[in-house]
Amino acid sequence: MKTASILAAAAALSAPALGQYNTGHGKKLVTSKALQKLINLDDLLAGSQKLQDFADANGGNRAFGGAGHNATVDWLYKELKKTGYYNVEKQPFVELFSAATVGFTAAGESYAAAYMTYGPSGSVEQTPLVKVANIGCTAEDYPAEVKDKVALISRGECPFAQKATLAKAAGAVGAVIYNNIPGALAGTLGAVGNYAPTVGVVQETGNALIAALEAGEVLVDLSVDTIEQNRTTYNVIAETKGGDHNNVLVLGGHSDSVFQGPGINDDGSGTIGVFAVAKALTKFNVKNAVRFAFWSAEEFGKLGSFHYLKTLNGSISGSAAEVSKIRAYLNFDMIASPNYVLGIYDGDGNAFNFSGPAGSETIERDFEEFYENKGLPHVPSLFSMRSDYAAFLENGIPSGGLFTGAEELKTEEEAQLFGGEAGVALDANYHQKGDDINNLAHDAYLLNTQSIANSVAKYAVDFKGIPRPNATLRKRSADSVRYLARFDHGSSHNHAAPCGNTQRVSV
Ligand SMILES: [Zn+2]
Repeated sequence: MKTASILAAAAALSAPALGQYNTGHGKKLVTSKALQKLINLDDLLAGSQKLQDFADANGGNRAFGGAGHNATVDWLYKELKKTGYYNVEKQPFVELFSAATVGFTAAGESYAAAYMTYGPSGSVEQTPLVKVANIGCTAEDYPAEVKDKVALISRGECPFAQKATLAKAAGAVGAVIYNNIPGALAGTLGAVGNYAPTVGVVQETGNALIAALEAGEVLVDLSVDTIEQNRTTYNVIAETKGGDHNNVLVLGGHSDSVFQGPGINDDGSGTIGVFAVAKALTKFNVKNAVRFAFWSAEEFGKLGSFHYLKTLNGSISGSAAEVSKIRAYLNFDMIASPNYVLGIYDGDGNAFNFSGPAGSETIERDFEEFYENKGLPHVPSLFSMRSDYAAFLENGIPSGGLFTGAEELKTEEEAQLFGGEAGVALDANYHQKGDDINNLAHDAYLLNTQSIANSVAKYAVDFKGIPRPNATLRKRSADSVRYLARFDHGSSHNHAAPCGNTQRVSV
């Protein structure tokens, strides 16, 4: 069944008499204090361990539609269903999954290399490396000698897909594209094509390879072992049976990890934090309905949340009226980064001159108050459009949330505010194998989950200061989103960017 029809049915069932919002007999109306009291670290870590176990039993990852992720989805569904407090739905959709295991050695030395999404499988051993001329954007850049060899190509100017295609056309059996600026190279070829097996390496590796070639022949081993398949996957959506279904708080995180690791901070922390609040909320009554969402395939471009909004606003089914029932969206994608900052999305645009739809400033202010009341610092986080809130911003829905940081380095100023190590990534294990149960900041995890509980309790009772979304806001917000594209180019290293796979660059 489609989401919108289920929700409409739920609304119809619970609509009747005035004031009869609540179905939980004898339960008290939720308060921040009482809800927070039910949040504890043991439960959070037990949940995280569950996700770790799912990854461990299934190849070390919980990438969307794979066994580790399916186990996550089924567990969330079952646990929420058995509370009896929620209408729970698994919303299916199909997307192309593409990932690979990559190996690269040159002159006997092993280098980190990254898969270029949509690239083909292939493997060569002890094959000479040949540097192409210029930046490999035209056929003339590829010398005849590159035939049956591995092409070494600089990043720059034209799409990676063009380079991988030209390499193949010139007869190369592999392509290594090196970054032309510092930092990781997370690339995509954009779509399936006629490519040589292609990997990306960092600038230092490129420089080392060029130096080695200047000294003589360099033999490389290159292997790309690709999985490419259409996978059915699921958003898990759980809405309180009680509460006003015309005034709904939606909150969530993504349930999938990258292929490279178990994703216990990204976004196991948001998943379990939101889940813990969902469990705790079952002890109370609510005035406004609360809808918990666990998005799939965020790491492949926020696919689950966009699919959900498309369903809801009628381009698949449903209607715009359904969208306007959502009074606010809260996003939690990484809330326990080991070298964390306490980041709050910049709803009012004060920090980054890009605000969310009207009401987002209230959501930001409410989060700020939670930390300030405890005498704790916080920093603003840019709506970089790199997590699931993007679909909600595009639909004009007031949004906010928390983010403790990913690959960006901690500044001196942040180290003074929050402790931890300056010059070290906020999450050094971001999108890697090490994003596991041993690398969570327990204090941030507990605190931020209490903060989620605080906001849920508040909006489950009253959306004061948060206007209802309307068509005008939606249009304006869509314009803003286009404007925001300027933040969306590879090298810009802003301070609010969670999931990198969603951010793969194509040039
Ligand atoms: Zn994430």
